[in-house]
Parts: sequence; C-alpha cells; structure tokens
Amino acid sequence: MSPFKWLPVVDPDECNGCGACLDACTPDCLEIDDTAVVLARPDACGSDEHCIAPCPVEAIRMAWIPCAGDPAVGRWLADRESGVPAGAPGA
Ligand code: SF4
Ligand code: SF4
Repeated sequence: MSPFKWLPVVDPDECNGCGACLDACTPDCLEIDDTAVVLARPDACGSDEHCIAPCPVEAIRMAWIPCAGDPAVGRWLADRESGVPAGAPGA
C-alpha cells in the first residue's frame, strides 16, 4: 500500500488562475494547466502549506494523498487512520 503525503489539492471550479499560489511555492511544484492550477511536481512538495493562505478564493486545501516518492521531502503517513508516520518501526 502506498504511503500518504500531505499535499495541496486545488478545486478547478474555484481557481481563477491568479498565480498567487505559484509565487508562494519556492520549489515550483505548481503549474497553471489551461485555467486552473495543478500540482505538477508532488515529489518536490515540502508539505509546508505556503500556497494555502495566498489564495484569494480558498481554492486550495491540504489532504493526505496516496503517493510514492522521497520520504525525506514533505510530511508522510504510512497509515492515515492511525496516524503512523512513514518510516516508523513496523510501518
Ligand atoms: S505545500 Fe509548499 S511546497 Fe507544496 S505546493 Fe504548497 S507551497 Fe509548494
Ligand atoms: S492562488 Fe488560488 S485562485 Fe490563484 S491560482 Fe492559486 S489556486 Fe488558483
């Protein structure tokens, strides 16, 4: 089973493409695809939530998403129900 990573999720119906979240994301994880923002590089996301507050229409929220990648980058859970961090003994 994949571990879960704390990642931004954008509602494409709410996003107006203003770009404020892109400016806030130091590792450049976000891109504008057509008219809405998408998380183009989840591997590089530090799970720091810096993209959330700048959004003027609250189109972004954070969620635990099944994901593969480097557990040293961002926040991870091996088990979303029990809150066991990825890499914990027995996880
Ligand atoms: S949580 Fe941080 S690193 Fe991830 S997309 Fe948002 S600003 Fe970028
Ligand atoms: S800040 Fe919000 S409205 Fe603006 S591009 Fe990002 S998700 Fe879309």
